[in-house]
Amino acid sequence: MIDPHDVDICLSADGWMDDWGAESMSTPVVQTSLFAFPDFQSLLDGLAAEHHHHVYSRGGNPTVEAFEQKLAALEHGQDCIAFGSGMGAVSAVMMGLLQAGDHVLFVNHVYGPTLELARHLGRFGVEHDVLLDREKPLDSALRPNTRLVWMESPGTMLFRMIDIDAVAAVARERGVTTVLDNSWATPLFQKPIDAGIDVVVHSASKYIGGHSDLMAGAVVGGTELMHRIFRDAYMLNGATLGPWEAWLLLRGLRTLPTRMRQHEADALEVARFLDDHDGVRRVFHPAVGEDAELAGRQLAGTSGLFSFELDTDAFDDVREFIDSLERFRIGVSWGGTESLVLSPNNGRNGADLDAAGIPRGTVRVSIGLEGARPLIDDLTFALDAIS
Ligand SMILES: *Cc1c(COP(=O)(O)O)cnc(C)c1O
Repeated sequence: MIDPHDVDICLSADGWMDDWGAESMSTPVVQTSLFAFPDFQSLLDGLAAEHHHHVYSRGGNPTVEAFEQKLAALEHGQDCIAFGSGMGAVSAVMMGLLQAGDHVLFVNHVYGPTLELARHLGRFGVEHDVLLDREKPLDSALRPNTRLVWMESPGTMLFRMIDIDAVAAVARERGVTTVLDNSWATPLFQKPIDAGIDVVVHSASKYIGGHSDLMAGAVVGGTELMHRIFRDAYMLNGATLGPWEAWLLLRGLRTLPTRMRQHEADALEVARFLDDHDGVRRVFHPAVGEDAELAGRQLAGTSGLFSFELDTDAFDDVREFIDSLERFRIGVSWGGTESLVLSPNNGRNGADLDAAGIPRGTVRVSIGLEGARPLIDDLTFALDAIS
């Protein structure tokens, strides 16, 4: 169930108002790179506190701020910074909060490039580990120098849930900052900050934008942490969100509740169909199978991205299955109106998949807005093609 207050936040126009109180039904796009001041001292005052003033659009822009305020409100966070991509947001959190000698613990399967960035930070003296075993206590995986616990729930590719309240409690007791990538659930279906998580990261290129037409990211958290991220990373990395993309995100938010309800319903219907099909070994969807109880407690809803294991381990079958689909477009990313398909199996990485516990016959789908029926027909045809 989506909180009606969230729907109000998503739908509010935040318009421009004229002197007689007539309001535009969308936010103005303040398409400028810089702001000019009435006198030099005002410019100097602005530069001294760029977090709170409009000086240069790499630091702050009114259209971008309108989006940031809405996302902060939806996530129940104090502050939000928007970025030019999800990876811009991910890298700013790491650059802003880590230094040489620190250790990062990743819990659950996380987005590939996020882990890849952590590997590169090894060059700067930052170490990391990945904890995939849900039976292993978090405590035993934390080190004295662990500075961040970074998690996804549901996780990338297998969509396994972790108990985020429990992780947040253990980390807090040990003084470790927690980060959760909430791109899958969106703030409508999961509020990590309410569960005790310190920082929420988003790829807004997915559901928040919602139409596969922009790149954007965001970070939400408490004022102090966010100020460090702003000062030590955001202003220096330059992964800035443009005002026009911010406007598209504001428009995306206005249909987000409706889109998420439809993605949820259709994805569940497709997932249950696959769960019953002989050509499918397992479905990896938080609400179907062993994680359903935890998902029911932790999520207010489920989105349209999930995966399943074909009844095969052969790459040739996976490829043939994907190529037999006609409705699903073949491509990366997710969260748009079109259904998408891919596999983590590229024909050469079998051993890596085995090590990560990802079956070789895994296929990931993003359920768009075509309606469940034609998608089920398409899947039936492709499953027959490889049986
Ligand atoms: C896509 C994605 C990202 C990266 O976002 P971009 O906007 O592509 O840079 C980060 N985390 C998750 C879970 C993602 O799916």
